[in-house]
Amino acid sequence: MTKEISARLGLETDLEKTISCIKCVGKTSHEVLAVIDVRGNDGDQDYSMSWHSGHEIIKCLGCKSISYRVVSSNSEDYYHDENDEIIYVETENLYPPRIGVFVCLTD
Ligand SMILES: [Zn+2]
Repeated sequence: MTKEISARLGLETDLEKTISCIKCVGKTSHEVLAVIDVRGNDGDQDYSMSWHSGHEIIKCLGCKSISYRVVSSNSEDYYHDENDEIIYVETENLYPPRIGVFVCLTD
């Protein structure tokens, strides 16, 4: 059984993403201030899986609120698109949790 974890701290000041804001209504442009990537492998010769999580400090370009976003994926969760390309499923978690999620669920 092997397990590897590596972390990288990067500053990606010109990276912009559209993400739900904690204060603004709906999704707004966010600047990614810092990223830490963590990758690892689990398993043995017969079976192994790899995983990845990206930890981001993000700032809303509208209200300037700072929050935290984690995007995680692994080699087991994927599907094939219409061109038969493998697309890995990414799970996004935002902290603090967005109020907009509850609005969507009760819609
Ligand atoms: Zn905002």
